[in-house]
Amino acid sequence: MCGIVGYTGDKQAADILMEGLGKLEYRGYDSAGIAVFSGDGIRVEKAKGRLSNLEERLKKNGKPVGTVGIGHTRWATHGEPSDANSHPHSHGRVTLVHNGIIENYLSLKQSMESMGNTFSSETDTEVVAHLIDYYYSGDPADAIIRAVGRVEGSYALGVMFEDIPDKLFAVRKDSPLIVGVGEGENFIASDVPAILSHTRRYYLIDQQELAVLTKERVTLYDFSGNDITAEKELMTADWDVEAAEKGGYPHFMLKEIHEQPQTLERAIQPHFVNGLGGILKEEIPDTSGIRRLVIVACGSAMNAGLLGKCAIERLARVPVDVCIASEFRYANPILGEGDVVVVISQSGETADSLAALRLAKGKGIPVYAIVNVVGSSIAREADHTVYIWAGPEIAVATTKAFTSQVAVLYTLALRLALDRGTVSAERAEEIAKEMKRLPELVAKTLTDEKIALYQRLASLNRGKHDFFIIGRGQDYAVGCEGSMKIKEVSYLHCESYAAGELKHGTISLITEGVPCLAIATDRSLVEKTVSNIKEVKARGGQVVLVCPEGMAQGQDFYDYAIELPQTEDLLMPIVAIVPIQTYAYYTAVYRGCDVDKPRNLAKSVTVE
Ligand code: GLU
Repeated sequence: MCGIVGYTGDKQAADILMEGLGKLEYRGYDSAGIAVFSGDGIRVEKAKGRLSNLEERLKKNGKPVGTVGIGHTRWATHGEPSDANSHPHSHGRVTLVHNGIIENYLSLKQSMESMGNTFSSETDTEVVAHLIDYYYSGDPADAIIRAVGRVEGSYALGVMFEDIPDKLFAVRKDSPLIVGVGEGENFIASDVPAILSHTRRYYLIDQQELAVLTKERVTLYDFSGNDITAEKELMTADWDVEAAEKGGYPHFMLKEIHEQPQTLERAIQPHFVNGLGGILKEEIPDTSGIRRLVIVACGSAMNAGLLGKCAIERLARVPVDVCIASEFRYANPILGEGDVVVVISQSGETADSLAALRLAKGKGIPVYAIVNVVGSSIAREADHTVYIWAGPEIAVATTKAFTSQVAVLYTLALRLALDRGTVSAERAEEIAKEMKRLPELVAKTLTDEKIALYQRLASLNRGKHDFFIIGRGQDYAVGCEGSMKIKEVSYLHCESYAAGELKHGTISLITEGVPCLAIATDRSLVEKTVSNIKEVKARGGQVVLVCPEGMAQGQDFYDYAIELPQTEDLLMPIVAIVPIQTYAYYTAVYRGCDVDKPRNLAKSVTVE
């Protein structure tokens, strides 16, 4: 998420910072700012919106003159995109930029406020500036290390101290940060593209390491204060700029597929920090009046809704309807007492979903939103918003936002089940434990060996024209999303069918060699699904079975198998969809498609 740059050298910092931020634009952002040591102290300029707004501001106010500074493009997580919430943030002698989320910012903020500090933004970030200033008594490294010791969450920080005008400091945990090493100039950056036009040499900063930069020197310390620079490998970037933006992956879609262990962690973990009693309590204080949920969404978000329905009905026994937003808005929907409309949208700007939200609100129906982009229209207009924290998604075909939407729906299912007493506390603990393992399980589906399998299977789809996916219950919903992925990126015609429904007509399309993905992760339905798979196989279909590890062994009703690490049946869809996304990705690559920008599609559909 977002971009950080820092510069110390002989050139005008403002120019270098603005150029670097431009190179990081691809990461997504909603506001930007810079801070430069000028003759009379640190000067901060920031503006909501595109970098061009900041450019305008600099023109109007005069560019800060100086050769040391930090810059930031913000992707808001706490506090709407606004001038005041833009970074850099300052307190006392400290000015800093931050990428990530300070999970315990509220309690830290309260403790700072109780000491008389006042805050000028709604961000989680500002508290770090307060903390570092609080601990600063002449030793900047010590102040930073003490401050981050109190912080929970993720951060990449670029820090300046008013009384140390020739130095920059950088530290990170779970958010990216590199230090670029030049000739008589040094850099910090979230990612290689920001520095490539100046230098190709850089250090990767690890957790619990602190970088101190002057224009002549970069020194890296561990948190005990030892100089570890000599032990660190100085890397050389051999990427071109475009490849660098994708973190070395050939496409954003593949990069985003591989980010899923981290994005799932961000979607799930914060909801469990206060135990089972705390799940979604901050976002949705009271669920007692709910009799029915109506999930309204478009595209993949609607498929996420189908999985939400499976989980919520199964765990909480609350009836759920899932509606296509463009249909819902013109269907004069029957809504009444006890109904809650749940709108799901990655961008938070999807026109049909926004119209559905307004329609429901107009009828006095409470609306919950599950959204990625902070401060987006849907997030603002809903009564209660749950963010998925997936970070900017660049590829048009969604991957990480989808799994995070599903993960949030699972937390909602668990919360409703607990509130209604349809699961025991013990059972809820078991489910919560498995939910927290999802990042690790998804990582197991993305090993080199697994990727090689998906590649091999995808290569079989080169000359195919039709493709089928079958599954029952939640596996059918996984199939709907899998089918969407295959269609949108590889242009291979694909249909997802409830496994038992195939024989009511469509099985006539299964002929010799027609590929069929059969998903069987729900153990309670496996036997029934296997019968349907046999029907496909008997007609010459080429079956790829997606199932939990061990299930396929010694069986002859499939041609190939994608085996998945086992967890609660209920949670298997998240584990199952990741290999299917990857398989769809490689199918598209082998068919020569423009994976990140499929024809005729747009990322955020803001028209009807
Ligand atoms: N959580 C911080 C904020 O909302 C930083 C967001 C980012 O990574 O851009 O300001």
